[in-house]
Amino acid sequence: MYDVVVVGGGIHGAGVAQAAAVSGYSVLLLEKSDVADGTSSKSSKLIHGGLRYLESGQFSLVKECLHERELLLKNAPHLVELKPFIIPVYTDTSRSALKIRAGLSLYALLNGLKRSGRFQSIAKSAWNNLDGLAENDLQHVFQYWDAQTNDRLLTQAVIKSAEEFGSELKTNAELLSANYVDDHWIIKYVVNGDESEAHGKITINAGGPWINRINNRFIPSPLQVNIDLVQGSHIVVDGEVSQGIYYLEAPIDKRAVFVMPWYGDTMIGTTELTYTGEPEKVHPTDGEINYLIDTVKHYFPKFRSITSHDVKQSFAGLRVLPAHDESAFSRSRETIIHEDIQNAPQLFSIYGGKLTAYRATSENVIQRIKHYLPSHKIRGDTKKIKLPTI
Ligand SMILES: Cc1cc2nc3c(=O)[nH]c(=O)nc-3n(C[C@H](O)[C@H](O)[C@H](O)COP(=O)(O)OP(=O)(O)OC[C@H]3O[C@@H](n4cnc5c(N)ncnc54)[C@H](O)[C@@H]3O)c2cc1C
Repeated sequence: MYDVVVVGGGIHGAGVAQAAAVSGYSVLLLEKSDVADGTSSKSSKLIHGGLRYLESGQFSLVKECLHERELLLKNAPHLVELKPFIIPVYTDTSRSALKIRAGLSLYALLNGLKRSGRFQSIAKSAWNNLDGLAENDLQHVFQYWDAQTNDRLLTQAVIKSAEEFGSELKTNAELLSANYVDDHWIIKYVVNGDESEAHGKITINAGGPWINRINNRFIPSPLQVNIDLVQGSHIVVDGEVSQGIYYLEAPIDKRAVFVMPWYGDTMIGTTELTYTGEPEKVHPTDGEINYLIDTVKHYFPKFRSITSHDVKQSFAGLRVLPAHDESAFSRSRETIIHEDIQNAPQLFSIYGGKLTAYRATSENVIQRIKHYLPSHKIRGDTKKIKLPTI
């Protein structure tokens, strides 16, 4: 009997497996495909507080993410790197220079006024060093600091750390069903074509966009949080922007779009499109690809000749957001850890969340499951554990 069975090998499954193993619990993690094959390799790859979430008043989320960013810079310097972020302000930019300055000041304050929270205005004389950024109607340029990672490698490193603390990982292992019998879950899964069974006192559903599909396989089935899946796509094109990560407004709808250096190329993203299909079938649409190309062409004359034929790579991921009529942009990005004690106790589902805050989310999960489990000798502190190299 395992103390904890985790379903899903994305960043949240990895984080919970690590935190549970560090807390002394026995852990089995089941991943139907390979580690980080879901959303956790399709993000914008930013380890950030999320400057734009200040606008929707999500201060505690921003503060927590900035704190986690600092920990990751310390514990995974080979995977998480501080980068200059550049915000150009044009005459038609929807946010004024004054508003952006206020936002950056608040961001620095929430970051505890650390060195990594400092920001500056870039002098006009230096604008021609900004990768050929269009200067027509350019009024102001800000530079602040946030971090970039490789989300797949980060997830793999957290899983490796979980394994070092004793977690068992099974890939190509899909949960088929789970039955609550005598105060624990009996889990049936198929691994490389063969059916197996495992018993767990606690089950964690870290299924990302598959979360409610997985919950439907539990007997009894828990009440579910109603969610929308919102697709976000990225493209990669030849030619690097080398001075940092550009934080731009798409000319068509004024949404935030990042233009980032990516292994010698340039990555551009992201989009927001409601998605209702099967999570494994999500892919960038022609409309999204053209939207991202139009954005990068608008700001960088050197990309003006690119077409969809020049896209070297493209990928789409799915955000899990509480169902609502509001636009995806203004909806809360707070993570929900849900347990339906009446119908399906000892099953916890992680809805939504940020790559950046995976450790804090995982520790919150451990706090929630603790009282169901006998206490064990703690083996470390996830705040201090260095992540291994991959
Ligand atoms: C477009 C986009 C951009 C983003 N950018 C950022 C960013 O820059 N910074 C940031 O901090 N956050 C970002 N996020 C958020 C972050 O990427 C996600 O919150 C995070 O990756 C979700 O991880 P997860 O582990 O919950 O889900 P996933 O990574 O999707 O993992 C779920 C796993 O469950 C597995 N699974 C499904 N069904 C079963 C089953 N029956 N049995 C076993 N396994 C199963 C899947 O194969 C999958 O690997 C972004 C999200 C999106 C969509």
